[in-house]
Amino acid sequence: MPAHHFIANARRPVPDERAIPVIDPADGQAFDRIARGSPEDIDQAVRAAQAAMGAQLDGPWAMTCARDRGRLLAAWGRAVLEHADELAGIEARDTGKTLRTARNDVAALARYFEYYAGACDKLHGDTLPYDTGTLAMTVREPHGVTGHIIPWNYPVQIFGRSVGASLAAGNACVVKPAEDASLSTLYLAEMAARVGFPPGALNVVTGYGAEAGAALSAHPGIQHISFTGSTVTGQRVAEAAARRHCPVVLELGGKSPQIVFEDADLDAALPVVVNAIIQNSGQTCSAGSRLLVHESIHDAFVERVAERFRALRAGPPSLDADLGPLVNRKQYDRVRQMLDAARREGLAEAARGRILDDAPPDGYYQEAVLFRDVPPDSALAREEIFGPVLVTQPFRDEAHALALANSTDYGLVAGVWTRDGARQLRMARHLRCGQVFVNNYGAGGGVELPFGGVKSSGHGREKGFEALLGFTVLKTVAIRYGQDA
Ligand code: NDP
Repeated sequence: MPAHHFIANARRPVPDERAIPVIDPADGQAFDRIARGSPEDIDQAVRAAQAAMGAQLDGPWAMTCARDRGRLLAAWGRAVLEHADELAGIEARDTGKTLRTARNDVAALARYFEYYAGACDKLHGDTLPYDTGTLAMTVREPHGVTGHIIPWNYPVQIFGRSVGASLAAGNACVVKPAEDASLSTLYLAEMAARVGFPPGALNVVTGYGAEAGAALSAHPGIQHISFTGSTVTGQRVAEAAARRHCPVVLELGGKSPQIVFEDADLDAALPVVVNAIIQNSGQTCSAGSRLLVHESIHDAFVERVAERFRALRAGPPSLDADLGPLVNRKQYDRVRQMLDAARREGLAEAARGRILDDAPPDGYYQEAVLFRDVPPDSALAREEIFGPVLVTQPFRDEAHALALANSTDYGLVAGVWTRDGARQLRMARHLRCGQVFVNNYGAGGGVELPFGGVKSSGHGREKGFEALLGFTVLKTVAIRYGQDA
């Protein structure tokens, strides 16, 4: 199949010289091709979306009522579940994630569509007490055409939470997936056309971020942008959007702490703490990448974590390993460089997993690594690594735990492990982040739970009903009807 975009419900093939190879991270070999999108391709996609909305919100998609939008999203969710194995297989091959993780992602995608399908016709404005003889109300309207820049770590989940909510609110979407993870997005766009979304409601242009992504964030026809990725690129996207007063939601990752107090149920905490960092090989915005443990139990608990780390195996999705390869050579090199710098700094490595002997030599495999007693000012304790690397830090008391937890530039998620109810509430109150999990952890699963950060983790909220509100513009209407006799 020639490399192509998907615009107005049709494949748009590109010539061979505009094709980019798709690399399997498990063995470093090319196995497919995608189209390299240009600013002209982005422009075509935006025009298709504009046609679906109509100049006066009178296009076929803008005229589709909330109930029918909900039915389409529900049908799309059912189609995802019917093709779950195929979609998970595509995602695992393209990104290197384990099949287990890919299946979870596909299940979450279906949940997003179900959730937003049900929410379409519950999205409403208010009537407002105002002057006698005047009816005042608010109406929620779509922005128009929304742009979605999707990263490679959870492509289908992030597609679901962003595109699902935007379509539910009545917008038409132009999506630019990451060049390392575009296959599932193209697959989903074709599925949307099959279940009945009208041409232009959903358009996909693949290609490089600096080319197609930059063109999308700067396009004057885009009225809202949702971006997930690095702080640096997020800043570029926000700057381009600010030049034309376009609202942006930025989800920019984190350095999220898991805080374990001396009274915690340690048997319950242990597997969750380990999974929070190794899930998706650590390439998770909400990864629990810092383990803060009360000094009275630090050494003993860290030894239990170390034992688990030594047993972790990295390998290709086909071998059902605990960790898949990292997504690409760039990410692999980045993680290795951070580990080399930590070693030069003299940081103590407490445990390391292993790479399966049968893993292809050219795959991007990184063992899970645990560093203990890492100083708070070390890069390893402050910067997002986006690999299976966990650092531990002992703390003296609640105030010290909070100071450490809030000490990085990020503020996405935090986990707190304690049986003390008052302490649970105090921690939830004072942690500077967008989500706090007490005696559990896992931003990924909660389709219903608003998600997003503070500080360098970004702004705006995705997921839940909150995201739906963000994909609308509030219009106030005041109707003067006067006084009846
Ligand atoms: P980027 O932020 O560069 O990529 C994220 C998305 O932005 C991709 O779709 C990318 O496309 C696109 N993009 C890149 N440049 C531009 C641009 N100038 N204008 C518009 N869109 C653009 O992250 P990287 O993939 O380079 O990863 C670097 C680091 O970012 C990771 O190590 C990790 O720390 C963090 N990250 C955080 C994520 C999160 O979930 N919050 C997700 C991914 C990365 P393309 O890939 O095609 O270039």
